[in-house]
Amino acid sequence: SHVEIQEVVSRYGELTEEAKTTQWKVFSDYPLSRKTLDGLEKAGYKEPTDIQRDCITLALRGLDILGAAKTGSGKTLAFLIPVLECLWRSRWSKMDGLGALILSPTRELAYQTFQVLKKIGFNHDFSAALLIGGTDLAFERNRVAGTNIIICTPGRLLQHMDENPSFTCDSLNILVLDEADRILDMGFQQQLNAIVDNLPVKRQTMLFSATQTKSVRDLARLSLKDPVYVSVHEHA
Ligand code: ADP
Ligand code: MG
Repeated sequence: SHVEIQEVVSRYGELTEEAKTTQWKVFSDYPLSRKTLDGLEKAGYKEPTDIQRDCITLALRGLDILGAAKTGSGKTLAFLIPVLECLWRSRWSKMDGLGALILSPTRELAYQTFQVLKKIGFNHDFSAALLIGGTDLAFERNRVAGTNIIICTPGRLLQHMDENPSFTCDSLNILVLDEADRILDMGFQQQLNAIVDNLPVKRQTMLFSATQTKSVRDLARLSLKDPVYVSVHEHA
């Protein structure tokens, strides 16, 4: 409800480094919607991992994020929670079109991310689609127009951008580039540039990469605005 959004957003002022380290132990301590908190609880997620703490704290404040964290550190929820909260607090509805775009290097990874989204996001009313090819374009085309959250591989997304007149990214609020180094390793550099060129400039972007190569830094320069660098160290 509007009252709940006001209450949660009014707590955003507490999103500080200090609160993150001293006060907030479990997800329910964070200023998140009841829908997301309930989804997390039902999925069995109680305590955020380090990268999740950092990303939630910074992303809810609207900052662009360049995240470095190893496989297994929990990056999926680190961006899915901010994605859900971003749309929720904007009172995004099925009528509002594409709000969030999540790019993955492979079909498998995109599929896994989609499963996690369904697991924690089922309380929300957003529509979501997985665009990974392997099915015919016409079939996907019908599901794409107006979808609120899209999880996709770069090649397939570009195909829709190029060939599907009913597909538009004009309303996009938030872009996630997951495993950006792998996306680039797979030779998708030009596709990524073309995709980013097609997106509204005024948006929030979260880029994750296990390594900081020159091509990742170039991509970061192209896609992020004054990013906060988040790096998670391994604990002994
Ligand atoms: P990454 O993308 O960094 O490789 P994932 O998002 O795939 O990491 O998460 C790795 C594993 O950790 C998954 O099995 C996921 O369910 C689990 N996980 C993620 N966040 C939490 C959490 N807050 N509490 C418990 N388990 C978690
Ligand atoms: Mg991952």
